[in-house]
Amino acid sequence: MRTSSSFRLPLLDDLRRAVRVPSRLALAVVVAAACLGAVSALEPALGRPYFFPAFAGIVLVAVLAGGRYGILTTTLFAVGYVYWYLEPRGSFAVSRALELPAVAAYTVTGCLVAAIGGALRRAYATLRGEHALLERTISQREDLLRALTHDVRSPLNAIGMNAALLAKAEDPAVSRRGRTIQASVAAIDVMLQDLVKVVALESGQVVLERTAVELEPVLHRLRERLSEVLPVDRIELRIPGGLPRLHADPRRLERVLVNLISNALKYSEGPVTVEAAPRDGEVVISVRDLGVGIDRDDVPHVFEKYYRARTAHGREGLGLGLYISRLLVEAHGGRIWVESERGKGSTFFAGIPVAGTAPARAASHDPRPAA
Ligand code: ADP
Repeated sequence: MRTSSSFRLPLLDDLRRAVRVPSRLALAVVVAAACLGAVSALEPALGRPYFFPAFAGIVLVAVLAGGRYGILTTTLFAVGYVYWYLEPRGSFAVSRALELPAVAAYTVTGCLVAAIGGALRRAYATLRGEHALLERTISQREDLLRALTHDVRSPLNAIGMNAALLAKAEDPAVSRRGRTIQASVAAIDVMLQDLVKVVALESGQVVLERTAVELEPVLHRLRERLSEVLPVDRIELRIPGGLPRLHADPRRLERVLVNLISNALKYSEGPVTVEAAPRDGEVVISVRDLGVGIDRDDVPHVFEKYYRARTAHGREGLGLGLYISRLLVEAHGGRIWVESERGKGSTFFAGIPVAGTAPARAASHDPRPAA
């Protein structure tokens, strides 16, 4: 569970809590009186010192009271000042006409500062509320995903094991049903894994363990491993000999390849070609299919979280596989992209740095860490 690190300005916040509404009213009067007192105290030294005390009072008020209380204090101060300190003293009459606009200007400035202070305070409170809500939502989402992995995957495994037994039955009809159940279980499992993986990636829990990886054996092992649940006979591997080794985390690289290959099989009926070629310090792996393709408008978005193109209609999926692939490839210091045309098929490319040339890089994605 994520610990809440709430967003707050402690000193200002504690002051606000300490000074509640009725006492703020009293505070406004007290501060105004104190500022007038300060004017009295400073008068012998500064002559007619309305500038400094007035502003000291205004700033204090804006910070402490904010909003309407700040305005009230500033106005009280101005009224008191005109009454007690402007000649003739003890009346609201003003002998030197220019003094009145000066006091008015200070008062208006003070009121504005107070009003801005109040608006900032309200915005800050809203922001804090939304931040807290967001943290609660994230934490609930993580709890839900944890429950999903633990509570759903165990019975799912049991179904998978029984389906594997059925798949081995002598009766071809039973065996076929067993394989269908196995494929569905695998699809659900991939979706659950994707959900969990996204949380792990975004919360920076995944650290890459990179070594020098030879691509071809990885692809052969992968095809073997997927053979129970995917129509791997449609996959054609065209990996040239002498390919440089990749600077990659084998498990995470496999994950990217599984995503691209299983998508190609899912969104097409025909052959899927996996190729690789060295290029400028990287090996570019491509996965090509001749399937439904992707609309031009959707192409820039398919690596976004939860994004599903229009052509995905009717096929299972959460729109997370390519997002995860992008985070993983970028964490390797590589890049991933697609060329596609609706109705003609798609080719996904992943450029992975070659061993010995890759810059060290944290497994992170803007702005959150990845794996
Ligand atoms: P999903 O679980 O929906 O397949 P992905 O993140 O793997 O999620 O893919 C995002 C979207 O990109 C898909 O919904 C689909 O619209 C599109 N897409 C991915 N791979 C292919 C492909 N090989 N052919 C056509 N569309 C694809």
